[in-house]
Amino acid sequence: MSRKPIIAGNWKMNLLRSEAKEVFEGVKNFVKDYTAVELPTVVIAPVFTSISAVEAVRCDCGCGGNKISIAGQNCHWEKSGAYTGEISVDMLKDAGCDYVIIGHSERRQYFSETDEMINKKAKAILAGGLIPIICCGETLEQRESGVTDSWIAGQIKAALDGISAEDVAKSVIAYEPIWAIGTGKTCDADEANRVIAMIRSVVKEVAGASAANSIRILYGGSVKPSTIEEQMSKSDIDGALIGGASLKAESLNEIIEKTMKLMSKQTANV
Ligand code: PGA
Repeated sequence: MSRKPIIAGNWKMNLLRSEAKEVFEGVKNFVKDYTAVELPTVVIAPVFTSISAVEAVRCDCGCGGNKISIAGQNCHWEKSGAYTGEISVDMLKDAGCDYVIIGHSERRQYFSETDEMINKKAKAILAGGLIPIICCGETLEQRESGVTDSWIAGQIKAALDGISAEDVAKSVIAYEPIWAIGTGKTCDADEANRVIAMIRSVVKEVAGASAANSIRILYGGSVKPSTIEEQMSKSDIDGALIGGASLKAESLNEIIEKTMKLMSKQTANV
């Protein structure tokens, strides 16, 4: 594990402010006790209206809360203007976000987001000093017809088009096979690792070896406490983007703890 793992919770359109605060507090109280060991980077993406509520929890004690980063679930590429219902990178930054999830399959599917829009968002996020978590993934039909790799390579090339190697290096990609999202059906860890290694080779082609070596590529799709160890033990999987299992502090904490233990085991073996 040469790259620092990321455990990211995507809360999607779930949890009211009070509920969001409660789950966030549960995670904060868990991570704050780990002062002597290295933790994975923990990121939580609440709905926009709960960002200020979790931000307040994060800042109120000056210790463990600061170990949790906040992500927006989407953004617009323009700085401001007549875009009803949208939110800009500066607004997310102002609210306390460090990351923004873009190109999630649910946004591509239900809100017609295109690769071109995702590329504009990635550029705006990086220009604004935040980190994009760029999602990609194939449908079951695409997988069964054998076009998984070419489809995902196309998504990645389009998303990273025109972005400097330095910015690519800082970015995060999440490989989320659509058929594994919210279905309870996890992608086989070896297969997820194979696709992620393929994504890394595409990054190498477009941005060079150093960016490919630095970029963190996560797996997402029905990640649970019972699957994380196998996933995190693979060479190219740098963390997880978690939906359902991130809605409860206990399961997210279990995932963080298992990742942390693997990290310290690997450090001890170096
Ligand atoms: P899931 O969602 O963990 O509930 O499958 C993952 C995601 O969509 O990011």
